[in-house]
Amino acid sequence: MPAEPPTDPAVPSEPIPATADVLVVGAGPGGAAAATYAARAGLDVVLVDAARFPRDKTCGDGLTPRAVTELARLGLGDWLDEAPRLDGLSLHGWGGHAQIPWPRGRFAPYGSAVRRTELDDRIRRLAVESGVTMVQGAKAVDAEIGSAGIESVTLRTDSGARSIRPQRVIVADGVRSALGKALGRTWHRDTPYGVAARAYCESGRGDDRWMGSHLELRGPEQELLAGYGWLFPLGTGPDGVGRLNIGVGTLATSRRPADLALRPVLGHYYRSRREDWELTTPPAEITSALLPMGGAVSGVAGPNWMLIGDAAACVNPLNGEGIDYAIETGRLAIEALEGGDFSRAWPATLTEHYGLAFAAARRFATVLTMPKAVPVLGRPGIRVHALMAVAVRVMGNLMTEDDKDLVARTWRTIGRAATVVESRPPFT
Ligand SMILES: Cc1cc2nc3c(=O)[nH]c(=O)nc-3n(C[C@H](O)[C@H](O)[C@H](O)COP(=O)(O)OP(=O)(O)OC[C@H]3O[C@@H](n4cnc5c(N)ncnc54)[C@H](O)[C@@H]3O)c2cc1C
Repeated sequence: MPAEPPTDPAVPSEPIPATADVLVVGAGPGGAAAATYAARAGLDVVLVDAARFPRDKTCGDGLTPRAVTELARLGLGDWLDEAPRLDGLSLHGWGGHAQIPWPRGRFAPYGSAVRRTELDDRIRRLAVESGVTMVQGAKAVDAEIGSAGIESVTLRTDSGARSIRPQRVIVADGVRSALGKALGRTWHRDTPYGVAARAYCESGRGDDRWMGSHLELRGPEQELLAGYGWLFPLGTGPDGVGRLNIGVGTLATSRRPADLALRPVLGHYYRSRREDWELTTPPAEITSALLPMGGAVSGVAGPNWMLIGDAAACVNPLNGEGIDYAIETGRLAIEALEGGDFSRAWPATLTEHYGLAFAAARRFATVLTMPKAVPVLGRPGIRVHALMAVAVRVMGNLMTEDDKDLVARTWRTIGRAATVVESRPPFT
């Protein structure tokens, strides 16, 4: 899947227009999807990103069936046909192993894995093909606010600063969300957040059909960590070499911060998996990042602006997966554009779609930040196939409000109970 050649870094890719019906800040999966849907709705859309594409993004590159479904809905189904097809999760830990296929249901029957340099560039090119004006190398640095919300946004480029006056703004600027912060977004670190690192290895198993996931994560001193390791097959490249995304992620809260350095943990994980995953090169391109999760932010909307994706902490608290949420919230935000003032409506929409699942997952994730809880839950869990199947449904974000089976109803009941006892429910 070849990426576009890099653009000339000296100039913004397009002149910055003075106005827009919709300004989308950030061209990751969330922003690019939102921009595409807005342009298809006939709106005049400007999409800006501080980076120039193709750009890297720290990620496991894993696409759940829900993400594959959203990408197909956007119109990238044929393009994804060229990507690896992954049948489910191969879970390991405490001497056990369970291979769990993705559940059949309303989502695609397979997942995938695509490097973010390629995936994000493809989605943002789709936005441009749909009529969006994209400006690369333009960083949103400030916003002027009036009684009706954002009046203008200042964009900084290599050639100076320039203002744009948009009717509405979609803030999709990722984990740090500098623009969101300027608008009053607050990240609450007393709820679990993720700390994760990824790298790339060449491997004889690049064409495996299963996502490897190790639930018993240990540090270099064999200490047990609240987290998991992954190996996601990326297929064989045009050079005939198979590659994997390898990574480790841990959970933390402000009470129990993950003060460990992830590089040694990743190195240890690589060494322990080198043989069985046929890893032929050491981890390369190592990067790490923090991840707000489970809607653990407040201030996600104002009169004419909405936060989506990572900016709104729409990330699964149990595995750090967020590409599907980013694309989905991008779609939902454009569907909500007609509604007028977003200040209350957008948090209500996010709560309706993700509130119960996030509340339940956050509760569970809080338990997992307690070191003793991990083996108590994991050791017997890995041996019970039915329990692992439930874990895959939860980790893959494959339960919806429409599911009526016992597992889905139980998960929602936990969510409702968690919302009641929680001092600060998701998105508040
Ligand atoms: C180590 C790790 C592993 C992960 N693994 C997975 C996985 O396997 N599967 C999965 O689904 N999710 C995974 N995630 C989560 C996933 O990467 C995110 O949920 C996803 O990228 C969110 O997309 P987004 O569009 O909201 O934000 P992003 O993809 O972060 O895009 C934000 C964009 O905004 C731009 N930007 C930022 N600030 C500004 C500004 N001021 N002005 C203009 N542009 C700006 C950035 O350049 C960027 O292009 C992982 C995360 C980490 C850290």
